[in-house]
Amino acid sequence: MDSVTTLTADAAVLEVLDPRTGEVVATIPAGDERAADAAVRAARGAQAAWARTPAGERGAALKAAAARARVHVEELAELQARENGRPLEESRAGVEAGIGAIEQYAELGPLHRGRALNGAYEATDLLVHEPRGVVALLVPWNDPIAIACGQLAAALVTGNAVVLKPSERTPLATARLVEVLVLGPPLQVLLGDARAGRPLAAHPDVDAVVHTGSIATGRELAALCAPSLRKTLLELGGKDPLVVDAGVDPVWAAEQAAAGAFANAGQLCTSVERIYVHADVAAPFVDALVARARRTEIGPLVDERQREIVHRHVVEAVAAGARLRAGGEPTDGPGFFYPPTVLENCDDAMAVMREETFGPVAAVSAVASFEAALAAANGTEYGLAATVLTPSQAHAQRAWRELRAGTVKVNAVWGGAPGGAAQPQGASGTGFGYGPELLDELTLTKVVHIEPAPG
Ligand code: NAD
Repeated sequence: MDSVTTLTADAAVLEVLDPRTGEVVATIPAGDERAADAAVRAARGAQAAWARTPAGERGAALKAAAARARVHVEELAELQARENGRPLEESRAGVEAGIGAIEQYAELGPLHRGRALNGAYEATDLLVHEPRGVVALLVPWNDPIAIACGQLAAALVTGNAVVLKPSERTPLATARLVEVLVLGPPLQVLLGDARAGRPLAAHPDVDAVVHTGSIATGRELAALCAPSLRKTLLELGGKDPLVVDAGVDPVWAAEQAAAGAFANAGQLCTSVERIYVHADVAAPFVDALVARARRTEIGPLVDERQREIVHRHVVEAVAAGARLRAGGEPTDGPGFFYPPTVLENCDDAMAVMREETFGPVAAVSAVASFEAALAAANGTEYGLAATVLTPSQAHAQRAWRELRAGTVKVNAVWGGAPGGAAQPQGASGTGFGYGPELLDELTLTKVVHIEPAPG
């Protein structure tokens, strides 16, 4: 693994756990300044030649890398599922999506062209895109391969070199991915936790920091990068509301709510985290949601730390007056399981309605009107995504215009067209972490004006 940092005798180590059993599956270096410096130097050393490689050749290299990775889909899916506990089928879908993203950027990258401007007849005026240089990619654990693949491909195809730092909770599948891609020195992997991430982000030779993860880390990274004013692209957490309007079928609405709150045990950035239901349908909606929760089987949370956060939110909400209707106790036995949980009578002062829970908890608050639901939905610092279930065209129209969120969905918690990259709003981040616009984020636009010399 010549582009993956390996364990040295004196390095601090971290354990990677299997969330289904709690067993240690591997140890990795915790990371330090020296390892970060080595990775950045290696990336920097490769960047100029990579940037001079014609865009078509870079795209072809990525396409060939994606073909190599396709041979290893099953192995990567199993490794990833072992580290983050996702069901194998979902893990495989994530790996497939990631390889698909590499293929897409392999095609899109060479088409990401500048333009000629309308200058004087004898002059040449151009607007061109240039690579930023060395891009640090800090990746979370909940969908690591899919996120890493898209971002590394967009960065590499535009001529950047990359230092990829997977989450310390899910380093193994990512390290293996890089091995099977065989993209050479322009793609470096740095293992570890914040002890690797901080010196990487602050390294003087890093030109852009792309972080997908929690708001707390995003804030720290923004502060770390502020003195150098280097580019930061932050794709952060959410506290997505689901608004259930009067007049909907409560059983269908409950199915939607369960799908949004319990998928991947609630560990998706766009999980449904708060539910505002019109009082007219609240009782049958909650009853159907409770029945659905009891029938739903989910995988484990990623680790004990995450399970403690989820359980604290539930316990505090109940102490403050919420009614526990399903779940609510950590599952006995090995691993970090927590059951699908339904809370009603929640209010917006509770952590479960205010802070990202990132667990299988459907927290419900009944509201008197659609206006009250929209106001409550906009009442946090987050702004990642939001969903409204309504039979009213007028309410649907108001919802997408008035909700402060990068993505608004009407009458479906999941779904959307390819290429739908949004800018997160509020504290949920900055810029485009996905889609064709990511190619703009990872390049610098330069204007060139050339006149003939006199004489
Ligand atoms: P995290 O911020 O703790 O970690 C993300 C990455 O940053 C990891 O590689 C980690 O090692 C590194 N890191 C952590 N602290 C650091 C520090 N102080 N300095 C430098 N690097 C540091 O996030 P996580 O727990 O791995 O992921 C879950 C979060 O990610 C949730 O909030 C979720 O909503 C969010 N997420 C957002 C999106 C999106 O597209 N908006 C997608 C997936 C996950």
